[in-house]
Amino acid sequence: MGDADDHAIVIGAGVTGVLAASALARRFARVTVVERDTPPDERAFRPGLPQCLQIHAFWKHGLDCAEHLLPGLVQELVDHGAHRLTVPEDFLWLSPVGWFPRVAGTADMTCSRVLLDWVLRRRANADPRIEVLEASRVTGLVPTADGEGVQGVRVRTDGTAGPRTLMASLVVDAAGRRSEATRWLTELGHPVPPVERYDAGFGYSSRYYKLPDSTGRDWKAIYIQTSPGTPRGGVLVPIEDGLWIATLLGCGDHVPPTKDDEYLRYARSLRSPVLHDALREAEPLSDAQAFRNTANEWRHYESLDRWPRGFLVLGDALCRFNPVYGQGMTVAAMTTKAVADAIDGMDPARIHRDTARLQRVAAAQSADAWGLAVGEDLRFPWTQGRPPGAKVKFLHQYMNHVVAAGNVDPATCRTIFQVFGMTAPPAALLKPSAVARVVARWRVPTDSPSEVSAPPPSPAG
Ligand SMILES: Cc1cc2nc3c(=O)[nH]c(=O)nc-3n(C[C@H](O)[C@H](O)[C@H](O)COP(=O)(O)OP(=O)(O)OC[C@H]3O[C@@H](n4cnc5c(N)ncnc54)[C@H](O)[C@@H]3O)c2cc1C
Repeated sequence: MGDADDHAIVIGAGVTGVLAASALARRFARVTVVERDTPPDERAFRPGLPQCLQIHAFWKHGLDCAEHLLPGLVQELVDHGAHRLTVPEDFLWLSPVGWFPRVAGTADMTCSRVLLDWVLRRRANADPRIEVLEASRVTGLVPTADGEGVQGVRVRTDGTAGPRTLMASLVVDAAGRRSEATRWLTELGHPVPPVERYDAGFGYSSRYYKLPDSTGRDWKAIYIQTSPGTPRGGVLVPIEDGLWIATLLGCGDHVPPTKDDEYLRYARSLRSPVLHDALREAEPLSDAQAFRNTANEWRHYESLDRWPRGFLVLGDALCRFNPVYGQGMTVAAMTTKAVADAIDGMDPARIHRDTARLQRVAAAQSADAWGLAVGEDLRFPWTQGRPPGAKVKFLHQYMNHVVAAGNVDPATCRTIFQVFGMTAPPAALLKPSAVARVVARWRVPTDSPSEVSAPPPSPAG
């Protein structure tokens, strides 16, 4: 076996790239992660992760998958100040039709995306089986002699003359939303995959804060969801170092501002004043940073009749979601774990031959989250993409009643959050027992701001 035969290359050192590298290091003698950024040693913004100044919550199911691939990760994040929040118990969470009760749920995580990135990169750098090649951009794929497979990448490293070639029996594209896999594959004569895209036009505006000490506060986080009638919302969660991150979000004509005075005014315009009241007492520690380009986009590589041996696309490069539903990292971790499970016991040569099947395994992990994100986005009449059919419209009506029931019924509320957090499939809300609970609590949902009552107190009193 040649050196390249026992070598895997991962493009991108984001969450998908580091998790994939750790999984592949169990099957290949060497793994090289090629990363275009030169990430700083300390925790800081880097241009390859433009979203890293925005709020990032990690659902429990994603955390469990990440922990499985990188044992000790969760504790390491907590040691550096990440918070485990019980959702929705620790939140004041205003659904489109009223407050969710503060029932015990799953232990999800909040910290800055900058911290998560730093911890993940430290783990990759500490693994002797993984080499991280920084300041190096992959510019194309190297085909096998028969043109039916991939056997390496072309890499351009800052400060060096010309591109060079790195050979491997598996190349994983984890380059995120800016992945160039489609172009690279067409250069090799492979077909263009069908692409599904839905864009509700959400915009984010995030800002770091210091809150006054917690005396008198019976919540640990706030989420005011958007609703079709009021397509603007906001979130406030604790992150490391005693800091908080606030994010205002809205779509259509409601994209949030970044200017100082307008920021609080926008927060005041939400369906409940609780977020505004918290921010008014808080000290802003940064300017607000905007983020647009939040469309759902699924490149259906799994549907192609011809797929190259030795090549896989994972994470946002495969399927990305409107971030409002907080799914991206969880699906990335689920997908990477599913592929890791599928290659368990396989040698590199077999993995090289089996990538068409593995690409289908990966894609299947996106289906539930995709249905949820796209289904919700299609509530907004301006969402670009295929208009909703009868089934989606029926589900919109049914889900209105599910959420209304979840506002008064702890069991329904728990199931809703299990579905949000992907520990249960959306079908859990269609089980006869779940439907019976919804029907028993049938009420006409309204998202009128004037109907919003005071938030519920913490069960701890
Ligand atoms: C505003 C916003 C808020 C979000 N909030 C949440 C949230 O609350 N919860 C959640 O789970 N998800 C959230 N997401 C989604 C989450 O950010 C992504 O799902 C996640 O980052 C995907 O990880 P990735 O590793 O696939 O891609 P990325 O994180 O984008 O990483 C890609 C990496 O590849 C590198 N790269 C790119 N091209 C090349 C190349 N040619 N050669 C070498 N390196 C390359 C980049 O520099 C980068 O390091 C949010 C996204 C946005 C935009």
